[in-house]
Amino acid sequence: MKRTNTFAVRPLSNKGEQLLRELLDASAALWNEANYERLMRYNDEEGYEDEDVWDADTGRLEGTYKGVLGASTAQQVIRKNSEAWRGFFDTKNKYHDESNTSVTEHPEPPGFWGNKDDGRKLHTVIRNTSYTIEWGDCSRLEILVGNELKDRYGHTGRLRLEIAGNPNWPEYEKQGRLDLWYDETDSTFRASQPVTVSDGVRAIPLADETAALDIGANNLVACTTTAGEQYLYEGRELFQRFRETTREIARLQSKLEEGQYSSKRIRRLYRKRTRRRDHAEEALCRDLLERLYKDGVDTVYIGGLTDVLDTHWSVETNAKTHNFWAFEKFTKRLACTAEEYGLTVEVRSEAWTSQECPQCGSTDRTTRHQDTLTCPCGFEGHADLTASETFLRRHAEQAVRPMARPVRFEWDDHDWSGIPYPHERPKEQRTDPSTVHRDGNVASGESA
Ligand SMILES: [Zn+2]
Repeated sequence: MKRTNTFAVRPLSNKGEQLLRELLDASAALWNEANYERLMRYNDEEGYEDEDVWDADTGRLEGTYKGVLGASTAQQVIRKNSEAWRGFFDTKNKYHDESNTSVTEHPEPPGFWGNKDDGRKLHTVIRNTSYTIEWGDCSRLEILVGNELKDRYGHTGRLRLEIAGNPNWPEYEKQGRLDLWYDETDSTFRASQPVTVSDGVRAIPLADETAALDIGANNLVACTTTAGEQYLYEGRELFQRFRETTREIARLQSKLEEGQYSSKRIRRLYRKRTRRRDHAEEALCRDLLERLYKDGVDTVYIGGLTDVLDTHWSVETNAKTHNFWAFEKFTKRLACTAEEYGLTVEVRSEAWTSQECPQCGSTDRTTRHQDTLTCPCGFEGHADLTASETFLRRHAEQAVRPMARPVRFEWDDHDWSGIPYPHERPKEQRTDPSTVHRDGNVASGESA
């Protein structure tokens, strides 16, 4: 199985930092030069063929940059650029292929890593044999640098960096090419290390916290943990698009001629609808479980949606939600992903939790308006987050710590990007939860 360790790294001295920055900057400069050579050939209309981009003289560039980067890193940067171009051609072919519906927009050729004037994007890639990691109490990363840097900084040729945090996958059979970059949003150097772990290897939970999930349609998942974290994955837009496609399918079906039951167009829409949902679901499971793992969760309770649906949801909402979620399939997917992280999943009835007031315990006096649950006793809160918290308190054996500000995630077709929940103190920056639980730990909560 392929997995990825992501972590923050720190240079051990100012000189080390200078060296690292120079290495990353030179890598970006090399990427840009290689990309420019290829883009020029690509944009040359006259007698143009896709293959022409491979005529770019990358050997010359490798020669120019290997002094600073070392030959292997120079090669890797060029190789990564080649992969980007191959990926681009591949997507472009799919776009032009009538029978393939997975690409709907004409792709753009690979872009540049910033520029000299506005600042280059500091990023490099290091071959699997050109770096070593020592995992332990003081984890260390060592990377090879070129002779020129070595001479200039009176260095040994291996740059040592301190690793912050623990890997998800400390035991692996093979390591892949390392990505190393500077993250400007929090002024941190970060790395991601792809590894191959043997089948059956599970991550070991970091602590014994519990999480409870409330699953719905407008908010796909509302989650509360005993560590005091709350996550909300918004599904409004996704659900909306699912329904639009469903309507379009119905419209096309109504226009079919007698005796005809489907059409190419209808089948394509069905596929598109399913693919979009599956993609978002898969990404959600990964994002959430990675987060829970880093929060030290070892048990996840998932509410059995059925009870709730039967008791007080409208028939229409019921059908829509079931159709959208394919609930059993989704819980199965969650459970499988959880298992990889060594987390246990328990499915439990969550009847009534979604309308129970956490303050006075009433279930029949509360009212829900859109996302807000209110009770005559004075309680007012986010309905789904409240439900997941009530559900958690019902099942967790340990005490539930005071809640941090919830983090809300929106789907942008590729990732679930987190933003602080807008109703609560919007100006305050929410800290990445993975950075605050363990001492001095700045391990990343993002995957590259
Ligand atoms: Zn109440």
